[in-house]
Amino acid sequence: MKDRASSTEPENSADQLRRAVRRGELVPYFQPQYDFASGQPVVFEALSRWMHPDRGLVMPDRFIDVAERTGLIAELGRTILEQAGRRVAEWHRRGRRIGLAVNVSPSQLRPEFASTMVEFVRALGLPDRTVTAEITETPALSETCEEVETMQALIDGGVGVSVDDFGAGFTSIEALRRMPFTEVKIDRSLMRNSTPGADALALEAVGVARSRHAIVVAEGIETAQDLDRARAWGCDRGQGFFFSPAVPADEVERLLATV
Ligand code: C2E
Ligand code: MG
Ligand code: MG
Ligand code: MG
Repeated sequence: MKDRASSTEPENSADQLRRAVRRGELVPYFQPQYDFASGQPVVFEALSRWMHPDRGLVMPDRFIDVAERTGLIAELGRTILEQAGRRVAEWHRRGRRIGLAVNVSPSQLRPEFASTMVEFVRALGLPDRTVTAEITETPALSETCEEVETMQALIDGGVGVSVDDFGAGFTSIEALRRMPFTEVKIDRSLMRNSTPGADALALEAVGVARSRHAIVVAEGIETAQDLDRARAWGCDRGQGFFFSPAVPADEVERLLATV
């Protein structure tokens, strides 16, 4: 790597991010998904946070786009999966059968990605369907063979596939019908939008998911009213500030000790 310190060129954010990933400054925080039937946290979603030595905690909206544009997203995703996967395996060893969800960018959906992720999960000794890949819905997702095949290969290898942010604007029920998945996550924009149209779209998504025996998770539950609405749609689980924001791993341990 070039020695930037001796260069007069200003550093760009891609260089900073690349170095941060390699130094281990990108860490997972964990946000619980609560199961409506049992009232328990059953899955934790790993959300990346940059622990910047000067700037403090940096949120994904400041670096995920850069990571996507520069191809760093795969390396970032790998470090988050490795750290979060080890934590979850540790919790399993202590008898807490918690699921893990990680975010995967559609650009990562190459055939070798599925085999790498499946092997990693197996090496951790976690049971099938413990780990789910949340893939943000994009218009292209259901059109590209390679992406659809990679999603199917994940499922065949025991990794769940969640269609993340369903309803965020790229939505089509027809596209959802064409995709392989084990879970749908209803975007928080539908929760914020209290209209018959939003309800109809959520209900349709739940219908498609039911016909596939897939789980439905509602995002962005901030109030008791949001929770009622998610239950009325027929969702299985909910996630949002009403329950808990994303927290560091040691806080998950405290939370699990109380339930
Ligand atoms: P996402 O996967 O849809 O995650 C949900 C986002 O909504 C998270 O933001 C979470 O903190 C936030 N959130 C949760 N509950 C509520 C709520 O009740 N109200 C509101 N207003 N927000 C809520 P966060 O952590 O800033 O992450 C933003 C996005 O960045 C994620 O959206 C995901 O698409 C992406 N991202 C985060 N980490 C990774 C990663 O490791 N890899 C990839 N590829 N993408 C990631
Ligand atoms: Mg997600
Ligand atoms: Mg989401
Ligand atoms: Mg979202």
